[in-house]
Amino acid sequence: MLQRFYIETFGCQMNEHDSEKVAGLLAHRGMVAVNSPEEADLFLLNTCSVREKAAQKMYSRLGEIKKQKGTNPNFLIGVLGCVAQQEGEALISKAPFVDLVVGTHMVHALPDLLEEIEQERGGRRRVATDFMESTAPVEIPQVIRQNSFRANITIMEGCNKHCSFCIVPYTRGRERNRPAKAVMDEARRVVDQGFVEILLLGQTVNSYKDPHNRRFKFADLLSEVAAIPGLRRLRFTSPHPREFDDDSISVIGEMETICNQIHLPVQSGSNPILKRMRRQYTRERYLELVDKFRNCGRSIALSTDIIVGFIGEKEADFQETLSLVEEVQFESMFSFKYSPRPETEAQNFEGDLPEEEKTRRIMALQRLQKGIQLRLHRQRYLGRCRNVLVEGTARDGVRRYGRTTTNKIVNFPGNDQPGTFTEVLITDVGPNSMVGQKLEEIEQNQRKQAYGTRI
Ligand code: SF4
Repeated sequence: MLQRFYIETFGCQMNEHDSEKVAGLLAHRGMVAVNSPEEADLFLLNTCSVREKAAQKMYSRLGEIKKQKGTNPNFLIGVLGCVAQQEGEALISKAPFVDLVVGTHMVHALPDLLEEIEQERGGRRRVATDFMESTAPVEIPQVIRQNSFRANITIMEGCNKHCSFCIVPYTRGRERNRPAKAVMDEARRVVDQGFVEILLLGQTVNSYKDPHNRRFKFADLLSEVAAIPGLRRLRFTSPHPREFDDDSISVIGEMETICNQIHLPVQSGSNPILKRMRRQYTRERYLELVDKFRNCGRSIALSTDIIVGFIGEKEADFQETLSLVEEVQFESMFSFKYSPRPETEAQNFEGDLPEEEKTRRIMALQRLQKGIQLRLHRQRYLGRCRNVLVEGTARDGVRRYGRTTTNKIVNFPGNDQPGTFTEVLITDVGPNSMVGQKLEEIEQNQRKQAYGTRI
């Protein structure tokens, strides 16, 4: 009988939350989580295939874990997530020591699969990668959350967009939305349990529609969750620019619980490249959306994702991306070099750029963004007071760190408990993080007046 499990997670916040659901399922069948693979009977690797390196990383990690089978013949290895979905049986051929492959739609079946393995019904290995026909994901009875103050809540899974570079629609399937009632029940429950921040999750989170009432949209859900008494902060990820309607922008403008940070993944500033990427918006439409957020009534920090070196990206296209970045002045950015992914449309495009050219472009983009971030941090944060949600001990092992509502990391001296809020005066800024001093330690009332209020 399997008793102890260890889960390792690669990839995005959605994968991290899937691991929290898996931990809940395993705890439900009486298993306990342990702190290292060496203590476990069951090792699960929850994988990501969005970038080429993530899949390579998975195989090398499995190679390391395999050695444990030599000392414990009953030790089981399972692979979950996007690579499991993508590879299926082929994963067992490449890594024959793997006992279990569970795709993105079959996580709920994990307890039954383990039961079958324990009973040795039909041999030891199991591969479950079917896509479910249902319009809503299967509800998981219990979630074991990694974080004691921020609760991740899935509202939808999958994607109907088919951007030409993206593997997600092939590994996660088409959109499936959770009923609004299930989301609201979970949201109220976590707030009752003391969570102060909720992160709503979905591959295209803002395309949400209640499967029982298609007129109940993302804006409605956002507004209802944001109004839960006791909830202090609400975030969501990852939205698609095209899916933001005026209703959702109004809700964001009106409800202060919703954090002052919106992620708007642009991917490129060039119209021909956006078209090749099948992003379903133009540079002009994207900039209109940026304007709507700028005029929504609150100060919103924008962040973005950019892919450089997409197939066919000429120097002029890249310059368009740089000019869009200058124009928008994002407060943060995730940038990636394009790498072809299996099954995607772009895999068949001709003319992948040389690696050196992609590297040159990404370095130029990151240099530009670093300068923008530093300038914005000096203008918007330095010498001002910000409300910070304490997350834990800083990297130096001495100070605390936390986040502003705009998702900026602030390090400061103190003993505050994770999950508490404190006002911090920002005394120094870098491009990626900031340093501050707790306001209550520097004559709280006078300083608040002198340095303004939070945003
Ligand atoms: S919207 Fe595009 S990039 Fe985002 S998950 Fe769907 S296909 Fe991928």
